[in-house]
Amino acid sequence: MNATTTAPDAVPALEDARRFAAGPHRLFIGGAWADPREGETFATQDPATGENLADIASASAADADLAVKAARKAMESAEWADMKPNARALLLYRLADALERNADELAALETLDNGMPVRDARYFHIPYAIDQLRYFAGWATKLNGESIALSGPGTWHAYTLKEPVGVVAQIVPWNAPIAMACAKIAPALAAGCAVILKPAEETPLTALKLAHLIEEVGFPAGAFNLLTGFGETAGAALTEHPGVDKVTFTGSTEVGRLIIKAAAGNFKRVTLELGGKTPVIVLPDADVPQAIEGAARSIFGNAGQVCNAGSRLFVHKRHFDEVVEGVSRIADAMKVGAGFDPETQMGPVISDTQRNRILGYVSGGVDAGATIRAGARDISGPGSFVAPTVLTDTQAEMAVRREEIFGPVLCAMSFGDDDLEALAAQANASDYGLGAVLWTNNLSAAHRLARKLKAGTVRVNGGGLDPALPFGGFKQSGWGRENGREGIEAYTETKSVAMAI
Ligand code: ADP
Repeated sequence: MNATTTAPDAVPALEDARRFAAGPHRLFIGGAWADPREGETFATQDPATGENLADIASASAADADLAVKAARKAMESAEWADMKPNARALLLYRLADALERNADELAALETLDNGMPVRDARYFHIPYAIDQLRYFAGWATKLNGESIALSGPGTWHAYTLKEPVGVVAQIVPWNAPIAMACAKIAPALAAGCAVILKPAEETPLTALKLAHLIEEVGFPAGAFNLLTGFGETAGAALTEHPGVDKVTFTGSTEVGRLIIKAAAGNFKRVTLELGGKTPVIVLPDADVPQAIEGAARSIFGNAGQVCNAGSRLFVHKRHFDEVVEGVSRIADAMKVGAGFDPETQMGPVISDTQRNRILGYVSGGVDAGATIRAGARDISGPGSFVAPTVLTDTQAEMAVRREEIFGPVLCAMSFGDDDLEALAAQANASDYGLGAVLWTNNLSAAHRLARKLKAGTVRVNGGGLDPALPFGGFKQSGWGRENGREGIEAYTETKSVAMAI
């Protein structure tokens, strides 16, 4: 079959987005747009067509150094360092309003760059980015320390202060570019840090638009800097730089490991959101139609390119056939195509390299004995398309079961009337521990399993992302938490002040 290719007739702001994509694009350092020092650029591609999309500035180590100096200068300037919390909040609220005014163009840019259905960009990714900005704007005025009762001899006045950690490098991936960028910059700027954002080389356009909006809103020079470019050059230069106080990263576990090593030089604070292999568990008393819908959404949303994608499905034997058939039916009926086609339910994956990687996992699984229940469809290009795929008869040691595929590939397994301990052990049999999803109406089983699962977030009967809900992983899924109070406190240092009075 072919990917759907209907021309986009009425995508709002698509022409504006194309004009913006055409550039020129530069780096944003110290409140000004600058050409990269070594003058290099690279081309990005539209994953729905494979055609060149934009020429992007490729930041080098010299540019990273300039950005770090500009951010440091902001941290030492009265304009940013002494700005009152309510003024920081107001800037973030204004930025959120600016995103809202430009939501159609941002959505079109996200689809050009990443390939996702433009509906998902416009009604999920952009609103989520805006919510992050508004949620953390509210925290800027609520970052309080405590007063502490000391027990030593004498009389004391002791308290803590929450001070911004300083210059923060923020490195984000291509699967949710603007949502991730805003989830990173919002708490950092609310806490009064100076930020250097490095978007993924595949998807820099919404970050570039964001930088223009930040300029328009009037953040002080150097509070926000943008370096487009490659991970191995711009990204690595930031993570090694002695002038960076903290790195926050979302991406692969492999690169997370490199970042920990690079950060060791000056003991940078590090927050990492890495890979996942999220189990979705359907217990005997689940609402089966809901569980089928939910399981499909959880693995096929964003073409499975989600760290939290529900890639391992454990179904009680009573419902196994029905659930596998239901999810497979959804997979087979899904319209896979270009993100601007109004009929498209699943867009392309990010690149041919990624498509080949995903197909390699599927054929490796089949060679090792797995059965394809859905997905054995040829989806020819141009563009990087993969059919939503459901596998049964996989074994625990297969790569398709153990490794993060980052594509629309589901492994379905059944379980019997074992106790919850045994079920949790199967679900926990992974190097990752980012999320888990339960479908059940048994309250007691839900709460008991939630305690046993080694996962940063357990969702029961649905539930989405929320800037207020801490997000992060156990085990090799990362370090620390984003979102919520913990999310902003991660951008602060606690200072204790003790005064003998
Ligand atoms: P993915 O598997 O999602 O492509 P990566 O972990 O490769 O994720 O990339 C996520 C982000 O990390 C991107 O912005 C990329 O440029 C950046 N990156 C890749 N390699 C490095 C590195 N060695 N140091 C710092 N950043 C890197």
